[in-house]
Amino acid sequence: MKDSSDPSSSKPIRSTLLPYGQQWLDEQDIEAVVKVLRGDFITQGPAIEAFETKVADYVGVKYAVAFTNGTAALHAACFAAGIGEGDEVITTPLTFLASSNCVLYQGGTPVFVDIDMDTYNVAPAEIESKITERTKAIIAVDFTGQPVEIDRISMIAHDHNLVLIQDAAHSLGASYAGRRVGAWADMTMFSFHPVKHVTTGEGGIITTDNEEYYRKLVLFRSHGMTKDPEKLIKNDGPWYYEMQELGYNYRMTDMQAALGVSQMDKLDSFVARRREIAAIYNEKLGMLPGIVIPGQHPDAESSWHLYVIRFLPDYFHGNRRDWFEALRTEGIGVHVHYIPVYLQPYYQKMGYAQGLCPNAEKYYSSAITLPLFPKMTDSDVSDVIKAVNKIHAHFCLN
Ligand SMILES: *Cc1c(COP(=O)(O)O)cnc(C)c1O
Repeated sequence: MKDSSDPSSSKPIRSTLLPYGQQWLDEQDIEAVVKVLRGDFITQGPAIEAFETKVADYVGVKYAVAFTNGTAALHAACFAAGIGEGDEVITTPLTFLASSNCVLYQGGTPVFVDIDMDTYNVAPAEIESKITERTKAIIAVDFTGQPVEIDRISMIAHDHNLVLIQDAAHSLGASYAGRRVGAWADMTMFSFHPVKHVTTGEGGIITTDNEEYYRKLVLFRSHGMTKDPEKLIKNDGPWYYEMQELGYNYRMTDMQAALGVSQMDKLDSFVARRREIAAIYNEKLGMLPGIVIPGQHPDAESSWHLYVIRFLPDYFHGNRRDWFEALRTEGIGVHVHYIPVYLQPYYQKMGYAQGLCPNAEKYYSSAITLPLFPKMTDSDVSDVIKAVNKIHAHFCLN
């Protein structure tokens, strides 16, 4: 006889899988894209600047430069920061691959700094201990949408003359000490992948107040090529263009930019709904023994891209894979963010050792991401809570 609390012996909470994240597109978005398709420019047209201005104004900076995706935007930021062969760049292992791959693209060396076990963001005190003569930049990642301690990290960057890049793929709409993310670092990257706060299908942007970085980003996005008469080394005539740096074709299309403009109108309502759902999770799951809800720094106002719970292993039988699979069986599309980057085979071959960042590895062995996106209904939210309770009751040791 199976125990009545055995999840496999009872009806699943949901019959269809609830994804962990999903875009929200409406008729206004569709019309915005169709309007571009009926117009004169589908790329390199006016929608790009409109989108860049919208994002720059929203975060409160002078410049924004749109790219094909967030990874390309990070690559461009590394170029603008002057990262090259032999340069070290400090970042976190608890992030998507792009945050450190962009350093490798430029021939630099990522240096991984361990996380704080409360916020899961990079621990500022650990950053200082990893700075060497070769350190050129810091790429700080706002994991789950909670801003890093950007005031402290800015001071460290300033004291050591380092360029500060904020990977804010998770934190559009978030603030730190009352100031929007996007206006703090030398350059800040946002991603517009469909699971992120607003989407352009694929897309990314860098925001900055620095005119020199701005010019380099624009150059890098389009083959390193310029037609600006003031920048040309010589000038053969009105057709003349000059390639002055090795750049790429990292341009966003006007269809995407128009979608971005339309999506930005809804950003605040999207973030408000995400915060509402996170507050319900905090309240309902925070009281389950052995479940750890995400800690928040008092100055951080998260925009809640992800909601992660951790299972304290001593309270449960089985392991993360068991808890994960049981939640999937209940129809809850749980996920894991992230495998510490340096544990990837490619990085292991480069010589990064296991055990390099013990907190990140401990986090990884016990974390599960729950569904969180603005289109979730109250009944979806309640299904997630029921499923976690069911799995908790089944695996809990007493
Ligand atoms: C999504 C993401 C990126 C890059 O995004 P793409 O637009 O998919 O290239 C970079 N860093 C983090 C932390 C992300 O989550």
